[in-house]
Amino acid sequence: MSAQPSNKIPVQQIDLDATKHRIHPRFVKGFYQNIRLIVMYALLAAFILLPWLRYNGRQAIWFDVSSQHYYIFGMTFLTQDFYFIAAFALIAAFTLFMVTVYAGRVWCGYACPQTIWTHLYQHVEKWVIGDRNKRIKFDKAPMSLSKAFKRFLVYFIWFVFSMVTATTFVSFVAGTDYLYQSWQMIGFIPFPDWSTWVWVSVFIFAFSTYVNAGYMREQMCVQICPYGRFQSVMFDKDTLVVSYDYDRGEPRGARKKGTNPDNLGDCIECLMCVQVCPTGIDIRDGLQVACIQCAACVDACNEIMDKVGYPRGLIRYTTERQLAEKESTRVFSPRLFAYLALLAVLCGGVIYALTDRVPLEIDIRRDRNQLSSTNAQGMIENSYIVKLTNKTQEAHAYKITLAPQDGLSLQLRFNDVPLDPGESFDMSVSIYGDPAIIDEGQTPVTLNVVSEDGKYKVNKQNIFTTQGQ
Ligand code: SF4
Ligand code: SF4
Repeated sequence: MSAQPSNKIPVQQIDLDATKHRIHPRFVKGFYQNIRLIVMYALLAAFILLPWLRYNGRQAIWFDVSSQHYYIFGMTFLTQDFYFIAAFALIAAFTLFMVTVYAGRVWCGYACPQTIWTHLYQHVEKWVIGDRNKRIKFDKAPMSLSKAFKRFLVYFIWFVFSMVTATTFVSFVAGTDYLYQSWQMIGFIPFPDWSTWVWVSVFIFAFSTYVNAGYMREQMCVQICPYGRFQSVMFDKDTLVVSYDYDRGEPRGARKKGTNPDNLGDCIECLMCVQVCPTGIDIRDGLQVACIQCAACVDACNEIMDKVGYPRGLIRYTTERQLAEKESTRVFSPRLFAYLALLAVLCGGVIYALTDRVPLEIDIRRDRNQLSSTNAQGMIENSYIVKLTNKTQEAHAYKITLAPQDGLSLQLRFNDVPLDPGESFDMSVSIYGDPAIIDEGQTPVTLNVVSEDGKYKVNKQNIFTTQGQ
């Protein structure tokens, strides 16, 4: 067995429209396929239900691009907090790298949206038309009323699934309240009353889902997805991969009358492993880029082994070290510790930043036109625009004060600034300086902001200047 995948995709399969060389995988039952189905339905349910989850009376996960406020379970992020998103993306990427080194393409086989939606759309074909043999016969049969009806039914169900997928996706951005409560009557028919960008987004997502899962299918994984190829490079001798036990299986051969099974390996050449493969490859040819590690061939071969009375595991999850070198897999390696250390640092940093984060923001801008002026009482005045943002999920009133400093005083238009959850407000403030007390030139000043319950406090420095009058 070689750990480096070889690209054994037959040339005739290289076509982005999978319907031209449609692969009709046989559906198989077994331990790994049960896991796949559980993961598939759990992830689909989570995806569809998540936008409906409410927290403090608001959609719990809502990326409200129009107001540039992003709500995640009680936390409000603004555009300038996007370093959190970058940190989450890095954590997800390194977790995936670590998992890939040890468990191979487990993401591709079990959790990738492309795999899940393709699997779902293939199930639709199975529900409407039947299993592999019926689908192959159906494809070859001349057009008839029944064939046209079944085709239409498949396409219609795909269309409904695509629309549900698209509206769910867009509802994370547009909000469920807007998306599902905006209706208008066209004649007697209720019709969504959405803005143009919502229609365009829904159309793009629905179209992409329909084409990817209905037509491109496994070609997406084999031809387009860079991640599949990129992951393969990360494999080593200790990576868990679906493999055919060549030593045990060969020489392969059907158990025909007159053949001596003692001269044959355990592979009975039933081709069941090929028929169940969603990418149409033969795992007995060795590890291949097109293998998404879904383990359908493992379940299929185990079923055959049970029937013929041979031990299971002719095709199984194993490592090159175990299979080819007959040694134990080495789990603990410097690479694992490096990934763990990196993840610990990243997760620690994010947890610290989140717990230390004050959900209140202050920004101070100076009036650029006039740095300072002198009023009728001879006091030097500096003007500023103070922007307050309430990043909590509750309404609060905030008080602004000037850190005590001899000769300086603050004048505000309001004593309290009431702000709704997620609301921002710009207000003009002036700081007055007594020229008899304060120093010439620039003096650092600090504005303090505190919520009425004293729970949230922030401060920000700026400069008071006697120059530029
Ligand atoms: S399913 Fe097993 S026995 Fe049948 S062809 Fe594949 S490897 Fe051989
Ligand atoms: S070879 Fe086996 S594990 Fe790989 S994609 Fe095909 S069925 Fe899945």
